[in-house]
Amino acid sequence: MTLQRAEPAVDTLRPGDDGYDDAARVFFATGAPAIIVRPRDPEEVAVSLAYAGDHDLTLSVRSGGHSALGHGTNSGGMVIDLAHLDAVEVLDAGRRLVRVGGGATWGTVSARLDQHGWALTAGDTAGVGVGGLTLGGGMGWMVRRYGLAIDNLVGARVVTADGRLVTASEDEHRELFWALRGGGGNFGVVVDFDFIAQPVSTVHFGSVAYRLDDPVGLIRRWRDAMHVAPDELTSTLTLMPRRPDMPPSATVLFCYAGDPGTAEADVDRLIEPLLAFGPVSEASIAERRYAEILEDAAHPPGLRMAARNVLVPSLDDEVIAAIADLHAGSGPALVLRSLGGAFGRVPAAATAFAHRDAEAMIVCGVMLPATAGDADVERALDPWGAVAAHGTGTYVNFQVSATAADVAVAYPPATYARLAAVKRAYDPDNRFALNHNVEPAAFGRAARPA
Ligand code: FAD
Repeated sequence: MTLQRAEPAVDTLRPGDDGYDDAARVFFATGAPAIIVRPRDPEEVAVSLAYAGDHDLTLSVRSGGHSALGHGTNSGGMVIDLAHLDAVEVLDAGRRLVRVGGGATWGTVSARLDQHGWALTAGDTAGVGVGGLTLGGGMGWMVRRYGLAIDNLVGARVVTADGRLVTASEDEHRELFWALRGGGGNFGVVVDFDFIAQPVSTVHFGSVAYRLDDPVGLIRRWRDAMHVAPDELTSTLTLMPRRPDMPPSATVLFCYAGDPGTAEADVDRLIEPLLAFGPVSEASIAERRYAEILEDAAHPPGLRMAARNVLVPSLDDEVIAAIADLHAGSGPALVLRSLGGAFGRVPAAATAFAHRDAEAMIVCGVMLPATAGDADVERALDPWGAVAAHGTGTYVNFQVSATAADVAVAYPPATYARLAAVKRAYDPDNRFALNHNVEPAAFGRAARPA
């Protein structure tokens, strides 16, 4: 089927077409869009946007489909599914400059870059899309070594709401380029991203399971070890969800992304402290290709997953006590992700991801029956407020809600005001609204309800 108004033809699906049901479903939601389009180039994206405008259709832009809010689909509107825009192209091998399609997934990208002995600092899951992850920031196993995904972005080609194809970089459309680095999908459809890849082929990846006899002590020891760890080492500490039939446990995962040729003895010496936080029940450490450490994630059937996060400038003893109390009480999964290093050396105003002073991100995850409503999710996450109160910001990509209050915590006032100015310039009618929405209103957040 083709769009009536479309010339050239755009691959489309409507209810009842073969493949529609799969295409309408994303990781966290099942939608019922009136039309799904799969453009093959910027011109087809522009045609799709014009069609949506003519028919007054709500817009979803879908890359890997992993939005925590299910924003990659909708009911009654248009989904622009970027699945065909998934190429990975080397533009300049000497600079490791690569162009990645806005609909590619990180599994595809890492496998392709591996052929050159390169990698890109991004997320930890193969199926997550380059589009959503990058536009929010992109935090993964090399965040302390090479920063966020956006810190390695040098350009992006964007089809804006009015159908123009623009290139955003330090040289052209600079404010748009700034906004795309953390401001989410607010500004247009990114058809491709230009990144400088890193010279990484293998990393040391490990998992250490601990009995959780002393949560406060274990978290403190992990924090202290990460204070003195080199940038090459990134790690997470997960307090596993409490279950009545199992003793409490925690897992430390880590990635050491050192320079090629680093002596094994040096790697061992740097990793060793991560094995000394408490009673170890299981450990495995191996040198692996970076492309192989990305996981496949599946949505557990019959369950509704929800997560919130907070960025803390200091993982001090008060925060640690709040984390331990929360875990001892309602027992959610709590993931602490070490930051600092290269992530922290980027000036706060250099990108729209402003929280560069964060020492760690803490994510709280709960699983509820699939029938749970939003009120049930709020109730389950209510105790999390005691930890969240210690934060100075959040990362939009791990946030299950996108109210004005959520947007305000993600973007400090100066960042928000600058994002709103970019929004006014590139999407004054707020056509890209299914996201952590930046409103084009002249007074930005001041005009929003409290
Ligand atoms: P989509 O639902 O396709 O897109 C999300 C939103 O991004 C869209 O609604 C749209 O607003 C916008 N968008 C996407 N592509 C484009 C584009 N090309 N142009 C314009 N707008 C676009 N995040 C991390 O940082 N690190 C991780 O390790 C990590 N792991 C995760 C693991 C799992 C299992 C899940 C579910 C999420 C994870 N995330 C991680 C969060 C992830 O970054 C966000 O959910 C992100 O929004 C997913 O991007 P996507 O392209 O897959 O999703």
